[in-house]
Amino acid sequence: MSSMSAEYHRDYLDQGDNRERHNARCRAAYAKDNAGKAATHKKRYGETLSDTLARFEAQGFVCASCGSGHPGNKTNQWATDHCHKTKKVRGVLCGPCNWAIGHAGDSPRRLRLMALYLERTDVR
Ligand SMILES: [Zn+2]
Repeated sequence: MSSMSAEYHRDYLDQGDNRERHNARCRAAYAKDNAGKAATHKKRYGETLSDTLARFEAQGFVCASCGSGHPGNKTNQWATDHCHKTKKVRGVLCGPCNWAIGHAGDSPRRLRLMALYLERTDVR
Protein backbone atom coordinates (compact mmCIF):
# COMPACT_ATOMS: atom_id res chain seq x y z
CA MET A 1 0.00 0.00 0.00
CA SER A 2 2.91 2.35 0.69
CA SER A 3 3.87 2.48 -3.00
CA MET A 4 0.37 3.56 -4.13
CA SER A 5 0.11 7.00 -5.65
CA ALA A 6 -2.57 9.25 -4.14
CA GLU A 7 -4.63 8.99 -7.33
CA TYR A 8 -4.40 5.21 -7.45
CA HIS A 9 -5.28 5.08 -3.77
CA ARG A 10 -8.43 7.22 -4.33
CA ASP A 11 -9.52 4.98 -7.23
CA TYR A 12 -8.85 1.90 -5.13
CA LEU A 13 -10.97 3.24 -2.28
CA ASP A 14 -13.88 3.97 -4.64
CA GLN A 15 -14.14 0.29 -5.66
CA GLY A 16 -16.57 -2.06 -3.91
CA ASP A 17 -16.24 -2.08 -0.15
CA ASN A 18 -12.55 -1.09 -0.17
CA ARG A 19 -13.21 2.21 1.58
CA GLU A 20 -15.11 0.63 4.47
CA ARG A 21 -12.46 -2.07 4.89
CA HIS A 22 -9.71 0.59 4.73
CA ASN A 23 -11.53 2.75 7.31
CA ALA A 24 -12.01 -0.26 9.61
CA ARG A 25 -8.26 -1.03 9.42
CA CYS A 26 -7.41 2.63 10.12
CA ARG A 27 -9.88 2.85 13.05
CA ALA A 28 -8.42 -0.32 14.61
CA ALA A 29 -4.83 0.88 14.14
CA TYR A 30 -5.68 4.28 15.68
CA ALA A 31 -7.38 2.62 18.68
CA LYS A 32 -4.38 0.29 19.15
CA ASP A 33 -1.85 3.17 18.94
CA ASN A 34 -3.83 5.21 21.46
CA ALA A 35 -4.83 2.49 23.93
CA GLY A 36 -4.49 3.74 27.50
CA LYS A 37 -4.15 7.38 26.45
CA ALA A 38 -7.79 8.46 26.82
CA ALA A 39 -7.38 10.57 29.97
CA THR A 40 -4.19 12.33 28.81
CA HIS A 41 -5.66 12.96 25.37
CA LYS A 42 -8.84 14.58 26.76
CA LYS A 43 -6.86 16.74 29.16
CA ARG A 44 -4.32 17.84 26.54
CA TYR A 45 -6.64 18.43 23.57
CA GLY A 46 -10.03 19.11 25.15
CA GLU A 47 -11.72 16.43 23.04
CA THR A 48 -12.03 12.66 23.46
CA LEU A 49 -10.06 10.09 21.51
CA SER A 50 -13.27 9.14 19.69
CA ASP A 51 -13.81 12.82 18.74
CA THR A 52 -10.30 12.88 17.27
CA LEU A 53 -10.83 9.52 15.58
CA ALA A 54 -14.05 10.87 13.96
CA ARG A 55 -12.09 13.95 12.85
CA PHE A 56 -9.36 11.72 11.38
CA GLU A 57 -11.95 9.58 9.57
CA ALA A 58 -13.56 12.75 8.11
CA GLN A 59 -10.06 13.65 6.81
CA GLY A 60 -9.99 10.26 5.04
CA PHE A 61 -7.28 8.91 7.39
CA VAL A 62 -4.64 11.07 5.75
CA CYS A 63 -2.61 14.04 7.01
CA ALA A 64 -4.82 17.17 7.09
CA SER A 65 -1.91 19.22 5.75
CA CYS A 66 0.02 17.25 3.09
CA GLY A 67 -2.43 14.39 2.42
CA SER A 68 0.05 11.61 3.22
CA GLY A 69 -1.44 8.28 4.24
CA HIS A 70 1.53 7.49 6.49
CA PRO A 71 2.52 9.01 9.86
CA GLY A 72 6.12 9.32 8.64
CA ASN A 73 7.85 9.25 12.01
CA LYS A 74 9.75 6.73 14.13
CA THR A 75 6.81 5.98 16.41
CA ASN A 76 4.53 5.42 13.39
CA GLN A 77 1.77 7.41 15.11
CA TRP A 78 -0.38 10.28 13.93
CA ALA A 79 -0.19 13.64 15.69
CA THR A 80 -3.16 15.56 17.07
CA ASP A 81 -2.36 19.14 16.05
CA HIS A 82 -3.73 21.87 18.28
CA CYS A 83 -3.40 25.61 18.71
CA HIS A 84 -1.06 26.22 21.64
CA LYS A 85 -2.89 29.44 22.60
CA THR A 86 -6.52 28.23 22.52
CA LYS A 87 -5.68 24.51 22.94
CA LYS A 88 -8.28 23.78 20.24
CA VAL A 89 -7.60 20.85 17.89
CA ARG A 90 -6.94 21.86 14.27
CA GLY A 91 -6.55 18.39 12.75
CA VAL A 92 -4.63 15.14 12.64
CA LEU A 93 -1.23 15.45 10.99
CA CYS A 94 1.69 13.29 9.91
CA GLY A 95 4.83 13.63 12.04
CA PRO A 96 6.82 15.84 9.62
CA CYS A 97 3.94 18.33 9.15
CA ASN A 98 3.29 18.49 12.89
CA TRP A 99 7.00 18.99 13.55
CA ALA A 100 7.35 21.69 10.87
CA ILE A 101 4.32 23.68 12.06
CA GLY A 102 5.50 23.49 15.67
CA HIS A 103 9.05 24.54 14.83
CA ALA A 104 7.73 27.40 12.69
CA GLY A 105 5.94 28.67 15.79
CA ASP A 106 2.48 27.99 14.28
CA SER A 107 3.19 30.95 11.95
CA PRO A 108 1.53 30.79 8.48
CA ARG A 109 3.70 33.74 7.44
CA ARG A 110 6.94 31.96 8.34
CA LEU A 111 5.80 28.75 6.61
CA ARG A 112 4.92 30.70 3.41
CA LEU A 113 8.29 32.46 3.50
CA MET A 114 10.02 29.09 3.94
CA ALA A 115 8.24 27.73 0.83
CA LEU A 116 9.23 30.83 -1.16
CA TYR A 117 12.82 30.49 0.07
CA LEU A 118 13.00 26.88 -1.11
CA GLU A 119 11.57 27.77 -4.53
CA ARG A 120 13.87 30.80 -4.91
CA THR A 121 17.01 28.87 -3.99
CA ASP A 122 16.26 25.64 -5.86
CA VAL A 123 19.74 24.30 -6.65
CA ARG A 124 18.77 20.96 -8.16
ZN1 LIG B 1 1.66 15.78 6.51
